[in-house]
Amino acid sequence: MKVLVAVKRVVDYNVKVRPKADGTNVELANVKMSINPFCEIAVEEAVRLKEKGTATEIVAVSMGAKPCQEQLRTALALGADRAIHVETDAELQPLTVAKMLKAIADEEKPDLIIMGKQSIDGDNNQTGQMLAALTGMPQGTFASEVAIADGSVSVTREIDGGLQTVKLSLPAVVTTDLRLNEPRYASLPNIMKAKRKPLDTKTPEDLGVNVEARVQLVGVEPPAQRSAGIKVADVDALVEKLKNEAKVI
Ligand code: AMP
Repeated sequence: MKVLVAVKRVVDYNVKVRPKADGTNVELANVKMSINPFCEIAVEEAVRLKEKGTATEIVAVSMGAKPCQEQLRTALALGADRAIHVETDAELQPLTVAKMLKAIADEEKPDLIIMGKQSIDGDNNQTGQMLAALTGMPQGTFASEVAIADGSVSVTREIDGGLQTVKLSLPAVVTTDLRLNEPRYASLPNIMKAKRKPLDTKTPEDLGVNVEARVQLVGVEPPAQRSAGIKVADVDALVEKLKNEAKVI
């Protein structure tokens, strides 16, 4: 079974994100970049499927500027067999990424596509759903458990008030939630080995996809500063303030 995993390069989750001085975008100069955490979970799940003998090949894909190759090398160090980089300096939006993933899926014919439920930079939560629509594949989003059996995949999803399990016929698109697994760290020998694994480069033109943005980013600004809270002496003082100052009761 071939598994395609989509890996996005984003600002590391430990970094406090700041807007550029002119407010046109997020400041990326000298900022640590990493694999989107949900994509790391997707890679881990694919590697576990390979370790179980269910998956035979894992192909990691990333779209964006040249440095995305660092995140693809990390995916290779974590256990992917080969990687595809679609190189473009364009500001990519979910529909464009979904179209490129569809073009790659048409070429690669994976049995399963695993991707993050959401990228932590754009917080879009759209690409997996759009890819499923474009390819006509069934989708299991927000997966907290994935089980493959007899040409189908059962995906347990965390929903309000409980768990929902959907059974999808393969090929299918699965997007990962936080509780699916705990990703491993890449070992030094595997990081070295990853340097020799194949990494193909393509362009959006090769895939026949127009990367022109349909949504324009108008500006980025930090959230308004909140004033500090205070401690009240007792419940009576709290009620008095809620009534007369905050006027919420
Ligand atoms: P989003 O819809 O932007 O929240 O992204 C959801 C998932 O789509 C991510 O976790 C990735 O798996 C995939 N994805 C989005 N953008 C890219 C990209 N530029 N390269 C590779 N995968 C991506």
